[in-house]
Amino acid sequence: MKWKGSRQSDNVEDRRSISGGGKAIIGGGVIGIIVLLLNLFGGETGQQIAPILEQMQGGQGQQTEAAAPLSKEDEEMGNFVRAMLAYNEDTWTKIFTQHGMTYEKPKLVLFKGAVQTACGGASSASGPFYCPGDRKVYMDLDFFEELKTKFGAKGGDFAIAYVIAHEIGHHIQTLMGTSSKMRQEQQGKSEAEANKLSVALELQADFYAGVWAHDNQEKLEAGDIEEALSAASAVGDDAIQSKMQGHVVPDSFTHGTSEQRMYWFKKGYKTGDITQGTTFEEIR
Ligand SMILES: [Zn+2]
Repeated sequence: MKWKGSRQSDNVEDRRSISGGGKAIIGGGVIGIIVLLLNLFGGETGQQIAPILEQMQGGQGQQTEAAAPLSKEDEEMGNFVRAMLAYNEDTWTKIFTQHGMTYEKPKLVLFKGAVQTACGGASSASGPFYCPGDRKVYMDLDFFEELKTKFGAKGGDFAIAYVIAHEIGHHIQTLMGTSSKMRQEQQGKSEAEANKLSVALELQADFYAGVWAHDNQEKLEAGDIEEALSAASAVGDDAIQSKMQGHVVPDSFTHGTSEQRMYWFKKGYKTGDITQGTTFEEIR
C-alpha cells in the first residue's frame, strides 16, 4: 500500500521500548497456543481471556523494564502503522459524517511482550485485539511473523493493514452499539448460539475492513488484496483448528471460517457500503 509521505496519525501510543520484557511472556507451550486460539483477533473474547491471563502471569504482567531502543525497522513499522491509522481516521470520519454520526478516533497501542489494558493484562500471544473498555487497539507486531510462519499467510504490509482495519471495525461496532447489543443477546444462550453471534460480529469487522479498503483503492498496490485475503483465510477458525488440533469443531467457531472471512472482506471491498454488512441477519 502506498503510504510514504502521507499523514501520520498522532493516536498511536508506542510502548514498544517500555513494555514488559521476556518475563511476562507466556507465549510458547500449550498455554500460548490455547490463548492464541481463543484470542486471535481477540475483539470481544479479549475481555474474557484477559483475567485468566493475569492469573497465569501471577501479576508479572505489571512489571516493566527498559528494553532496547527501537531499531530502524521498528521505527519504519511504527510509521507505517501511524499512516494506516490515519487512513482509517479519514475514511471513518467521512463515512460517519455521511450517515449523520460522529466518529471518535480510537488510540492504537504498539507493545512488545506484555501490556496492561482496561480489559486486563495481555501478552503478544493474544494476537492483536480491541478493548472496548478503553477503546484502544493493542498490537504486538511480532504477531505478523507468526501469521506467516505458523499460519502460512503470505504476509506483506497489507496483511497488517487488514488486521488494523479489522480491529478498527470492532471500534466501529462499539460506537454503533452493535457490540453491546450482541453481548446482551448472548445472555442466556447456549454456547453454540453465543458463538454464532460472536462469528457474526467478527465477520462484520472483516466487512468493515473491506469497506475501508474500498475507500482507499487508489493507494492499493498489486497483490494487496491477495495479502489481506491470505491473512483473513489463515486466521479462519477452521484453518486454525485444523492446524492446532487436526480437526474442526464448527460449534466452537468464534470468528468464522476462512471462506466466510474472505467473503465478507470482499463484500465490503466491492460495495464500500456500510449498510451491507448484514452478518447478523445472514449467518445465523
Ligand atoms: Zn476480531
